[in-house]
Amino acid sequence: MAVSPLVAPPTDTLERHAPSRATSSPFKRHASAAPSSNGNGNGNGNGNGNGNGTARLLGLGRAPSSAAAAATLDPIEQMNEDEKRKYVKGKKLGEGTYANVYLGHSRRDPSVLVAIKKIKVQSQYRDGMAPDAVRELKYLRELRHPNIISLLSVFSSKDQNLNLVLEYLPLGDLEMLIRDVDRVRYGAGDIKAWMGMLARAVWFCHDNAVLHRDIKPNNLLIAADGEVKLADFGLARAFADPGRRMTANVITRWYRPPELLFGARHYGGAVDVWSVGMVFAELIIRAPYLAGNTEVEQIALICRQIGTPTEDNWPGVTRLREYTVPSETVPVWGRDAYVGRFGAVGPDGVDLLVRTLALDPRKRITARGMLEHGWWRSEPKPTRKEDLPRKSEGGEEKMGADLKRRNGLVEDEPNARGAKVARKLDFGQAK
Ligand code: AMP
Repeated sequence: MAVSPLVAPPTDTLERHAPSRATSSPFKRHASAAPSSNGNGNGNGNGNGNGNGTARLLGLGRAPSSAAAAATLDPIEQMNEDEKRKYVKGKKLGEGTYANVYLGHSRRDPSVLVAIKKIKVQSQYRDGMAPDAVRELKYLRELRHPNIISLLSVFSSKDQNLNLVLEYLPLGDLEMLIRDVDRVRYGAGDIKAWMGMLARAVWFCHDNAVLHRDIKPNNLLIAADGEVKLADFGLARAFADPGRRMTANVITRWYRPPELLFGARHYGGAVDVWSVGMVFAELIIRAPYLAGNTEVEQIALICRQIGTPTEDNWPGVTRLREYTVPSETVPVWGRDAYVGRFGAVGPDGVDLLVRTLALDPRKRITARGMLEHGWWRSEPKPTRKEDLPRKSEGGEEKMGADLKRRNGLVEDEPNARGAKVARKLDFGQAK
């Protein structure tokens, strides 16, 4: 596997296109993703939804109901019990569509914290598990990279609930930092560091033939050391087979590319790259760049702010089954049009942004192309992860830290231009 100089080496290499490779998981059988049938990726399985589904997915028999039964565990059940016993579940951290997330720790070493994602059993799904949960398990087992959340273990608990043990990421997510304009200040070097981590994560997914399909700031969680990790693989899927039709109804609307809004059923990594571009824009202006309330409005915003997709700039676009654009055609804006709003990241940064937002997915920069872009080598350098701004916990202490950070921002920058960039970014917050 070729490794860009910007790419931190993965901790484990993924055997390409081999979703069922052996892992350190104790379970014999492997889960497989079910196709999604609706926009939220909440595909509608058609099975019986009985509670034993989880066990079947994991290759387990029935969970033991008593200590007496435990004495008769078969080897796989025993492995599940051993795995479960390694962790102690604590307070609830949050709730997602198909899971509750709890803080946990290792029984052997309570200082080792984990997040335990307990998948809700949903009777309407085959095996009782939402397809999103199956996908998350499948892809997280395959992908090991410093910028992708790590799956540490999987076990089934009583009532056949499936539990994913994930690395604990205590510093919130990028959305929290972007939105907290009063207390969290950041500059071009910080954006470059976050974008570098995101680009590396996306490159690694694509290099392993996985599309994430829900990249957005609140799926970018932050580790204690400041490392950003791509999370929530509930909508992910493999794209090894270019002939396969896929659902167009993925990716949160504001981050969804025009080809999906026009109903494309064949697509590739370019869909994630558009989302990366939207995250980039949002980091700079500290607000979602194109925040449509409906799909029609989303298309209208793309046409107005980026340009109207036409046969001239995107051959074949009018044949996409849901192609429809406002009657007034807006020519594709050039780089200069972006400088006023996004110039804080410098001309190279603007160039990268524009390339991620190419209307025609074939002309859009690839994840590898992003990593090879000149922006990473231009000033300012990306901030070291330990120096990146963090979410504030509230109160005086937080304010103090932010003030320190504010000084640091200017001092960190290598020259006066850096200070100017920082000021522009602060100014951008008001927009
Ligand atoms: P999710 O179902 O993945 O959207 O998770 C729901 C919520 O749980 C998130 O919004 C986070 O607040 C929290 N959460 C999820 N995963 C983790 C993690 N690995 N570490 C810390 N908090 C998490």
